[in-house]
Amino acid sequence: MKVIPITPRGYCPGVVNAINSVNKALSDPGYPRPLYLLGMIVHNQFVVDHFKANGVIVLEQPNKTRLQMLDSIHQGTVIITAHGVGDVVIEKILDKGLTYIDATCKDVYKTHNLIKNYLASGYQILYIGKAFHPETEGILSIDKNIVLIENERDARLMEKTVKPIFVTNQTTFSICEIEPIIKVIKQRHPYAIIAEEICNSTRIRQEAVINQNKNVDLCIVVGDIHSNNTNNLVKLSRQYTHVKTVRVSSALDLNLELLNGVKTVSVTSGASTPTEITAEVIRVLENF
Ligand code: SF4
Repeated sequence: MKVIPITPRGYCPGVVNAINSVNKALSDPGYPRPLYLLGMIVHNQFVVDHFKANGVIVLEQPNKTRLQMLDSIHQGTVIITAHGVGDVVIEKILDKGLTYIDATCKDVYKTHNLIKNYLASGYQILYIGKAFHPETEGILSIDKNIVLIENERDARLMEKTVKPIFVTNQTTFSICEIEPIIKVIKQRHPYAIIAEEICNSTRIRQEAVINQNKNVDLCIVVGDIHSNNTNNLVKLSRQYTHVKTVRVSSALDLNLELLNGVKTVSVTSGASTPTEITAEVIRVLENF
């Protein structure tokens, strides 16, 4: 089978930094044990399982916030994931006398700081993001008056405010979905200040998928079901190339039913997918 890898793909600098932070803690006995990960360090089960096998305790409690997860930790070191947390989480870690390592991506930090600055100047904040995603959770915990906008409908229904408005967004939001949302906000609030903060890694991976060679029988996106940027790559490929597109977690998901009749396939991967997992998928496809 002919395989066309899409470039760029795979690990972004924020994910590399987060993984390095956990490795550093593992190799440095100076960090009090046990080591806890406050959620999936990055949204990839293989990465998480690797750290679990090395003794890191990963707190994955979908019904609990980061703040609530801390209730079960009484000693050791807490590692904050690439998605970031609000200051309340850091304060609780310190109140409990725990050590922490902050693996928040610098692009996520940038949005936190923008929001804090505009809040301090009296702005109403609109945040375009996905509910219940850890990055959104961290942002919403900055201030209870931040309004979450998930889609155009939310933007249309948002209550009027006399305050000046500042708009920003989740770093891994879809470059195509954000445009119509911002358009609605601009129509309703022409003077709103808008800082579109999709990170560069997300943007160039999404653009590469949209501009990929359309003469393929199948597009495969390698990544975890929980990875927002992986799921956005699938959506964008389907919407803008009309090429049949599927997500696989690893080569184990490649089956005869999926590949039957496929002669040419393009392959990309989410920003949190390990290079070896994608390389294995490409190897299996080439030998198919
Ligand atoms: S996808 Fe962007 S924001 Fe998320 S960790 Fe990577 S570089 Fe940071």
